[in-house]
Amino acid sequence: MPREEAVGLLQELIRLDTVNPPGNETRAAELLRDYLEPLGVECELYAREPHRANLVARIRGRGEGPSLMLLSHTDTVLADPAEWQVDPWSGELRDGEVWGRGALDMKGQVAANAVAIASLAREGFEPAGDLIFAATADEELGEGISYGLEWLCEAHPDAVRCDYAVNEGAGDRVELGGRILYLCASAEKRSSPFELHVQGRSGHASMPGIADNALVKAAALISRLGEFTPEPRLLPETEGFLAAIADRVPPPAEALAVAQDVDPVAGEMVEPLLGLTVSPTMVAASEKRNVIPGRCDVTVDCRLLPGQSEEEAERVLRDWLGADGYELEWRDGQGGTRSELDTPLWSAIERFVAQLEPGARLAPICVAGFTDSHWLREAFGTVAYGFFPMRTMSPELAARLIHSADERIAVEDLELGVDFLRFVAAAIGS
Ligand SMILES: [Zn+2]
Repeated sequence: MPREEAVGLLQELIRLDTVNPPGNETRAAELLRDYLEPLGVECELYAREPHRANLVARIRGRGEGPSLMLLSHTDTVLADPAEWQVDPWSGELRDGEVWGRGALDMKGQVAANAVAIASLAREGFEPAGDLIFAATADEELGEGISYGLEWLCEAHPDAVRCDYAVNEGAGDRVELGGRILYLCASAEKRSSPFELHVQGRSGHASMPGIADNALVKAAALISRLGEFTPEPRLLPETEGFLAAIADRVPPPAEALAVAQDVDPVAGEMVEPLLGLTVSPTMVAASEKRNVIPGRCDVTVDCRLLPGQSEEEAERVLRDWLGADGYELEWRDGQGGTRSELDTPLWSAIERFVAQLEPGARLAPICVAGFTDSHWLREAFGTVAYGFFPMRTMSPELAARLIHSADERIAVEDLELGVDFLRFVAAAIGS
């Protein structure tokens, strides 16, 4: 019974504390290996440090078709037991839901992936290309030395190279303007923070006239950034989303109004996809109350459209802010990749959705957050989508529980996930 198997495996995974840092993902990798290996699934652990292993398992293909990876990460963010109704590492089954840290992000999908590949192995499934199960370490931290997929792509590319991948990122069922949509994450915005350095002249705060206050000068730039609106532009994902909700692709200038007209939520989803966004979030100036700052540094969270470069963004921002009075310095950017929409994997997910709920549509979205899909797209040109169907738990509740207290997943959604992954594996592998 895949349902009971997925519940049991998820409970075991939750009971292994893999809070990152320190991770200790080897516990999860070994559990999954011990589950899959006896079924004849080839398993290999890859670890940069012994306690931070990644598991890559596969059913070898006949060499006649594309490979498909079921991708997931085994680390979680931390949990404060005082905020929870149950022990966050209990894996308690209560009212048709499995509770615990990682249930949604993303040990539920880890378990569903594992049960999907295990059940296929038992049935003697021989895919055209390799079917790969990757349960990787170190996704949640996103900075410093990588022990997870970024490292695997560099150090063991042959283990993780794949044509298609299904990962986390979306799969929510939403109703917009009377239509039912399932969202599929096919692109990610690029996080490109920058700093504005504003120069002035310091002086004693009791005599403002003799100084040149860098904080006051920065304030004008901050206000100007607060008013920034980009020239709207439509990504293929945004066009696909608009077509799904409104049956047409309006000109860029009308896109926001069309989406808002369908549903205010649709408007909120479309707005950040029309161009780069800027949010000033931090400011550093004088360290003393009575010293007028001679320099002020403003940190700005900036998100670019996939494919948009920092050079292009800088031209736009300099046009907006004016040429003088500051220096603009980019900090380390990350992400910003996308996958094509016209692919066999897209069609397979579309068929699954149509069969699951007649009349429902699959709609692409570009997400603001970063996922491991980025590393596969960047290293191998993999077509990677974030899709794990969820229709029992509402997307609003799920969004509130991820990285928060009382995280849990509906058993119905877990089972639906297994069905979906088996469907996709058969569609790509046959
Ligand atoms: Zn995650």
